[in-house]
Amino acid sequence: MTDLRITTTNGTDAILEEATVQKFADSLRGPLLGPGEDGYDGARKVWNGMIDRRPALIARCAGVADVVAAVRFARTHELLVSVRGGGHNITGNAVCEGGLMIDLSRMKSVRVDPARRTARAEAGLTWGEYNHETQAFGLASTGGVVSTTGIAGLTLGGGLGWLMGKHGLSCDNLLSADLVTADGQFLTASADQHPDLFWGLRGGGGNFGVVTSFEYRVHPVDAVLAGMVLHPMAKAREVLRFYRDFARNCPDEALAAAALMTSPEGAPVVAIIVSYIGDIVAGEAVVAPLRKFGSPLLDTIAPTSYVQLNTLFDAAVPYGGVQRYWKSSFLKQLGDDLIEILIERSAKMLSPMSMVLFFHLHGAAARVDRNATAFGLRDDQWDYDVISQWTDPDESADHVQWTREFWTAVEPFATGEVYVNHLDSEEATRIRAAYSQGYERLVALKNKYDPTNLFRLNQNIKPTS
Ligand SMILES: Cc1cc2nc3c(=O)[nH]c(=O)nc-3n(C[C@H](O)[C@H](O)[C@H](O)COP(=O)(O)OP(=O)(O)OC[C@H]3O[C@@H](n4cnc5c(N)ncnc54)[C@H](O)[C@@H]3O)c2cc1C
Repeated sequence: MTDLRITTTNGTDAILEEATVQKFADSLRGPLLGPGEDGYDGARKVWNGMIDRRPALIARCAGVADVVAAVRFARTHELLVSVRGGGHNITGNAVCEGGLMIDLSRMKSVRVDPARRTARAEAGLTWGEYNHETQAFGLASTGGVVSTTGIAGLTLGGGLGWLMGKHGLSCDNLLSADLVTADGQFLTASADQHPDLFWGLRGGGGNFGVVTSFEYRVHPVDAVLAGMVLHPMAKAREVLRFYRDFARNCPDEALAAAALMTSPEGAPVVAIIVSYIGDIVAGEAVVAPLRKFGSPLLDTIAPTSYVQLNTLFDAAVPYGGVQRYWKSSFLKQLGDDLIEILIERSAKMLSPMSMVLFFHLHGAAARVDRNATAFGLRDDQWDYDVISQWTDPDESADHVQWTREFWTAVEPFATGEVYVNHLDSEEATRIRAAYSQGYERLVALKNKYDPTNLFRLNQNIKPTS
């Protein structure tokens, strides 16, 4: 290495002497990578193929000590910092341009305690890896619906998944979190220790420090009935009307999502994806009306495993390479007039990889008090996402425009609130909409734990102190 040019928090460049950087590298157990070094290009790739940023340094942390060293180094030199968990966030905020990327993706240990029904999981795990370990004990906690999503970013934003009707969001299952705060101190936040911070970590994103591990409550999860029914888009009106009533009537054990998308054969279709996590016979009775409705092109509903259920969407959202843009909101109703707009706009979908998704937040997730966690959007409602995916970067403007126009047409029917983990990069003005009355409380926490805004590459709660 020679002297290093690196971006600071105020956007200017600083020069770090070679010896300074070497001393930092020597203090780490994991590798410190710069441009051109082995592994550098792989480490800076994230799910959204539009993101092509080049950090000056990537600290591939091997454990808590590396995270402490990286945060202290960043603080001392006032460096622009990004924090990478699973690399799935649409914004690509996990990767900074020119600064220090704190990469947790190698920190993957899990310890399941079947007697206490808890699991301690390091922040570099994906949900597929976490589920693999907990399911070995017949246990699970609510996680994302795609196996390659990181546990860290998802839990810190809230965490919607198949188990949320029965066991609440991912953040509702969080018992404690270990983290390194902006002053380089290690602490544990839980209901008893730093309870204010623990509140903020359950929905407030990566604003308050680098979480090194999460302790979750885990639940017995054995039998799963799941799959999807596909109908031609020509039947979308009837199918979506059926879907809204079916989803609303699902018991806590079940969750029904819907998608407007293109089938693998290239036909526009509407899909209803359902899971029932509990007794299979009881589940069959719940899904029977769905299976009997209309004349589905395909019906894949069958007993399966929880691990399999969480890979159902994987092929539709492959990791890396693909260009992505999305916009999201919450909907309390799927009224007939809204359904007409959804059908009309979907007919103009530009890519067979794009889709519009509806996830029904209900049951235990909706019964939590709005003030109990920073994620406060606790109504029976749909998180809806317009997700555009394409491969040719030259077509980006068209796909972005289609996504925005779709979302704008639906917005009059939306609640005005949004899931923080589904905000795209240019939506800073909507961050308040993710927190409603909790926003000022988050600002107070930011003032206390990160007054200089070291952790700013996120859906940023700006400190006011
Ligand atoms: C294909 C796909 C499927 C999804 N499915 C779901 C779903 O089912 N349910 C759901 O709720 N959401 C879902 N999401 C959204 C998801 O919750 C967010 O994208 C989330 O940020 C991903 O976390 P990550 O660790 O993979 O992301 P990263 O991109 O690594 O991190 C995102 C941000 O989180 C913060 N962060 C990450 N790790 C840490 C850490 N250890 N400490 C402090 N801050 C940290 C940083 O600010 C970082 O910029 C999905 C996203 C995608 C792309």
